[in-house]
Amino acid sequence: MARYSPSIQRLINELASLPGIGGKVAQRSAMYILDMPQEKADSLIDAIRNARQSTCRCSICQNFADSDPCPICSDSTRDTKTVLVVESPRDVSTFERTHEYKGLYHVLHGVFNPLTNKSLEDTTLSKLIERLSQNSDIEEVIIATNQNAEGNAMALYIARLLGPSGIKVTRLAQGLPMGSEIEYADDLTLLSALNGRITLS
Ligand SMILES: [Zn+2]
Repeated sequence: MARYSPSIQRLINELASLPGIGGKVAQRSAMYILDMPQEKADSLIDAIRNARQSTCRCSICQNFADSDPCPICSDSTRDTKTVLVVESPRDVSTFERTHEYKGLYHVLHGVFNPLTNKSLEDTTLSKLIERLSQNSDIEEVIIATNQNAEGNAMALYIARLLGPSGIKVTRLAQGLPMGSEIEYADDLTLLSALNGRITLS
């Protein structure tokens, strides 16, 4: 006999497919949703639908935003000579939280990783190359991919690719613990990694 009805099982499966949510948490969350007052459940459904419908990718930096270009790319007070390359939109929020970085961003939406079948084509690297070739303002590309094997490989790959362009390519200093993800770094560590960045090419 099935443990849950088909409709509940479907909800559990959908929740379990989200990153970081295992079967047990998915079951607990599904039960929580079913116990919610109807208006709270409707508000959750509406929030998901609204975020999906009103969010787009900025055509310049590829970050998620409600407008294209996004508020950062359209902000005339930002330093347009510097582009910070990050793996995910979460990393943009992490750097913005410090209020110190004033340049622009490029969100890769992942890095090359043979273990997860993520190829270079799945990232927005080609959009970065296109952007750099069309924009002569940009003088420095700071690579802030995560400090792990995949992030480091991606950083070296980008540095090699941009080598002939004359654009300075730098990498965050190794102040962040090896294997750590940018989004979990505290502000001070992040700023010292940014200020102590090393030149790759
Ligand atoms: Zn943007």
